[in-house]
Amino acid sequence: MNILVTNDDGIHTVGLATLARVASKYGRIVCIAPDRERSACGHAMTLRDPLRVKRVPMEGGFEAYQVNGLPVDCVNLALTEFFPDGCDLVLSGINNGPNLGWDITYSGTVGGALEGAINGIRSIAISVASYVEDAPLHYESAEVWLIEHFDWLVSAPMEEHTILNVNVPSIASIEIRGTKITTMGMRVYEDRVEKRSDPWGREYYWQGGVVVVDSSQIGTDVWAVNEGFVSVTPVRLDWTSHSQLEHLDKSLATRTSRVR
Ligand code: MN
Repeated sequence: MNILVTNDDGIHTVGLATLARVASKYGRIVCIAPDRERSACGHAMTLRDPLRVKRVPMEGGFEAYQVNGLPVDCVNLALTEFFPDGCDLVLSGINNGPNLGWDITYSGTVGGALEGAINGIRSIAISVASYVEDAPLHYESAEVWLIEHFDWLVSAPMEEHTILNVNVPSIASIEIRGTKITTMGMRVYEDRVEKRSDPWGREYYWQGGVVVVDSSQIGTDVWAVNEGFVSVTPVRLDWTSHSQLEHLDKSLATRTSRVR
């Protein structure tokens, strides 16, 4: 099995090394990731600048490359350059921090996996859901879960052009209560933009904010992780709200007949 390993936290991270270590037990792996942290780049890609690739040493002796670009760039570049005979699996992570609910639209980790799905490859995004900045992360819990579920991840029935978004709570492996298949929950931010002033009195802004998590909705990814379960959400590239098509079409037709 040919496996592409990427992330949005950068090539020199514990999360990527952990994912590479697990994946290497199941096939030939190539690690290719941004040369620095590019979190919250979503599904962006580099169009106006040249991409440079550099082979870098990696713990475990794995084939690894850094790119001066984004996860999407890494996936496309690797498929062209390092997988001429095809790629069977794209793994993106293990991200430092949660990728839950609406936040996944910002996620570079998920963006990398989506690019794999666009290329028709089974793709999985994996994150460790810790909520405290700089708190030590339980990557080892994600590693144990991945080893226990790898055969399922590569064989589970999946629709075309979908990915699996996995979030492992950042707790000791023994405390994890199990795994839930979930829907995307809600994550809304308060005080998203903070206004400050620099030492010269000029105003500047910093984006961040306090997340308001609604973990009351049973069955969502937010709920599952909050309850100590590993969350697995099938996410599709097709963002169309299929349930609205008929209503919207009817309302347009009514208006058209009136307005002409
Ligand atoms: Mn990240």
